[in-house]
Amino acid sequence: MPSCELCESSGGEVLYQGAQCRVVLVDDALYPGFCRVIWQDHVKEVTDLHELDRMLLMGVLWQVEHVVREVMQPEKINLASFGNMVPHLHWHVIPRYTDDAHFPAPVWADTTRQPSAASLQARTERLPALRVKMQQRLSTYL
Ligand SMILES: [Zn+2]
Repeated sequence: MPSCELCESSGGEVLYQGAQCRVVLVDDALYPGFCRVIWQDHVKEVTDLHELDRMLLMGVLWQVEHVVREVMQPEKINLASFGNMVPHLHWHVIPRYTDDAHFPAPVWADTTRQPSAASLQARTERLPALRVKMQQRLSTYL
């Protein structure tokens, strides 16, 4: 069996760990507040999930988006699900700002600019609040 990166490691700082899915904070110096919602089992597509599981995954995703918006105050939220590299359904929840490294292109495009140290620091300083609010919101939602 080939090893699976997301079975062997959390994929980031765990903010919520549930039976079906987890939420992690991605360690990305350019994108403080970047979160991922990761389905725990190997499932290829959202439409492979049973309906209740699909509703659960989507519900968690919207809760995560809500908290990232509230705490990180981005210009825009980018949501993405690729799953081409790992056999786990997962969603990227990315707070975007007009001065970030790629705006308005996707974060996977070539870098457009280096964000100012002050902007990155201000966003990084919101992470303690993001951890607290995410745990509060998901523990009352689930
Ligand atoms: Zn796996």
